[in-house]
Amino acid sequence: MLTVENTTTWLNKFAEQIEQHQSYLSELDTPIGDGDHGGNMARGLAAVKTALATQPDDLTKLFQVTAMALISKVGGASGPLYGTAFLEMAKQSKTDTDLDVLLAAALAGIEKRGGATTGDKTLIDVWAPVVQAVQAGKLTQTVIDDAVASTKPMVAKKGRASYLGERSVGHLDPGAVSSGYLFTTLLATEGI
Ligand code: ADP
Ligand code: MG
Ligand code: MG
Repeated sequence: MLTVENTTTWLNKFAEQIEQHQSYLSELDTPIGDGDHGGNMARGLAAVKTALATQPDDLTKLFQVTAMALISKVGGASGPLYGTAFLEMAKQSKTDTDLDVLLAAALAGIEKRGGATTGDKTLIDVWAPVVQAVQAGKLTQTVIDDAVASTKPMVAKKGRASYLGERSVGHLDPGAVSSGYLFTTLLATEGI
């Protein structure tokens, strides 16, 4: 179950990971994109940290301020997608605080917003197996790592990487890697 306390801990850890891996994320975005994913995410997560420091008093509010920070600061393709994920969690949290239900709502929002599906070499290739594993009560670090790695041999079908077609093969998807950090920090947060 998500609470204001454990979700704040989770998202602050995520912000820390993004900050630490900012250059790596941009390096990944260089051969198959425009090299800005690390910068985009670092700017957005810094804004999330500031929003969380205002101590939103319920989970819905917490997800709303997180979504707003991401939408207004990340930019690119990933900003609206991560933002939508947290907006959907905000909506869902009015009736539910179970992690599996919240994450499923977030994934549905990402799919609707970006029009991508599993196998398109996007962050969905991490979200989809993670949501399935959470629903089955079996999320492990291996599930996350395998999902991130699965994007390497894929041909990109959405986003900037899709302009490269076959030449996108052999590279990890940067959004999949940043989503990997989201779920690694989730796994490392006690009591969720
Ligand atoms: P931009 O490509 O606009 O520079 P970013 O570099 O911040 O934005 O984000 C790129 C990431 O966004 C990709 O690695 C991919 O995971 C994700 N992405 C792009 N388009 C889509 C889409 N239509 N659906 C899901 N994810 C997408
Ligand atoms: Mg980019
Ligand atoms: Mg860009």
